[in-house]
Amino acid sequence: MRNLDQRNQIIEYSLKLNSTNLSPLRSGNISLRGKENNVEGYLITPSGKKYETLKPEDIVFMGLNEDEKKVSNNKPSSEWRFHRDIYSNKKEAQAIVHAHSPHATAVSSHGKPIPSFHYMIALAGGDDIKCAEYATFGTEELSKNVIKALENRSACLMSNHGQVAFGKNLEDAFELAQEIENICHQYTIALKLGQPKILSFEEMKKVLDKTKNYKKG
Ligand code: 13P
Ligand code: ZN
Repeated sequence: MRNLDQRNQIIEYSLKLNSTNLSPLRSGNISLRGKENNVEGYLITPSGKKYETLKPEDIVFMGLNEDEKKVSNNKPSSEWRFHRDIYSNKKEAQAIVHAHSPHATAVSSHGKPIPSFHYMIALAGGDDIKCAEYATFGTEELSKNVIKALENRSACLMSNHGQVAFGKNLEDAFELAQEIENICHQYTIALKLGQPKILSFEEMKKVLDKTKNYKKG
């Protein structure tokens, strides 16, 4: 089978969506940039399948210029549009994780960016984490809103829905989604105590310079 290693990696991380509580049951989706028959595209989880039942042949390859298709019994994730658009717009994106993680989803329901109440906000690439405007799941409109919220960022919230993160590989994208969930957990606690103090733009600029070299494996 083509791209067997990539398909198995997607299954491994789909199972982690459940086991780490990042996305329960069938929610969320995962993709990896890839090529098939010299066509540039991405491999993506199928729509509506329980992760524990996934087999390599269930993972769907989609060309970047291809519209929804049915491969044997599987349809690609209903969110293939924003996966496609992230790969088309962000050359550095090699893997994408979309999750309905509990705290990120709760914070997303406020439809507002998360300000720099913690310096780790910088992990998403800027001095705040944007929240994509609400649109129905699986639509072009949702994809447009996600791309806007990801301008100069590698993760964002999706209003009344969840979060999305991308990275240079699946390990990085998944780790970033976990960090976003953790930040949102901390933010919900901070808000219970009143309005948190927000770090200045100047301080965040310093942090952004330092975090460029932060990860060492
Ligand atoms: P899919 O099973 O179609 O990927 O849908 C899950 C989801 O999170 C939709 O936003
Ligand atoms: Zn979703």
